[in-house]
Amino acid sequence: MSSTKAADAAIRSAAAAAGEPFADLVRRILASLGEDPDRQGLVKTPERVEGALRWLTQGYGQSVLDAVGDAVFEEAHQSMIMVRDIELYSLCEHHLLPFFGRAHVAYIPNGRIMGLSKVARIVDVFARRLQVQERMTDQIADAVMDVIRPHGVGVVIEAAHFCMMMRGVEKQNSRTVTSALRGIFRDDYKTRDEFLRLAHNHPSA
Ligand SMILES: [Zn+2]
Repeated sequence: MSSTKAADAAIRSAAAAAGEPFADLVRRILASLGEDPDRQGLVKTPERVEGALRWLTQGYGQSVLDAVGDAVFEEAHQSMIMVRDIELYSLCEHHLLPFFGRAHVAYIPNGRIMGLSKVARIVDVFARRLQVQERMTDQIADAVMDVIRPHGVGVVIEAAHFCMMMRGVEKQNSRTVTSALRGIFRDDYKTRDEFLRLAHNHPSA
């Protein structure tokens, strides 16, 4: 996470050193696409694009600890806790096009649980960055491990990628499924099976 932050800071300082405001860069992109950045519909587009991209990448300025806050509780519960169907919207770092879908996150506590909404907050911390789905899946699993040190964590993400749907192979109905298993979810096949069954057994399937 710190290397991502460092890279982000480097990008910002390089842009600042170049002396070119973000919106001006967008204006140049519009012009290089053959558009007239001064026509009425596009006049405010550069500022809007900047605002949208800063919003969609706000995860760079957020940490998992901030997202979870003090919502970690001592609790003797020993069974699997799963938060299913967490909506996520992210941007693929290869094309800056959206990918979106659902995350299913489960863990088996080891003396501590966290507020259920905080699981969704953790997903957003990583989704609101330039991402690849595989890395994001690992980051979410590692973050839950770090925050509450459970017996194990399982994360499954199913997502549709606009870079596949709108361009290239144009496969509108394909979904990419990734998983990350930590601790008992990786080492114990019964736990893994229970998790994967719950993760893949959803009403829309
Ligand atoms: Zn892509």
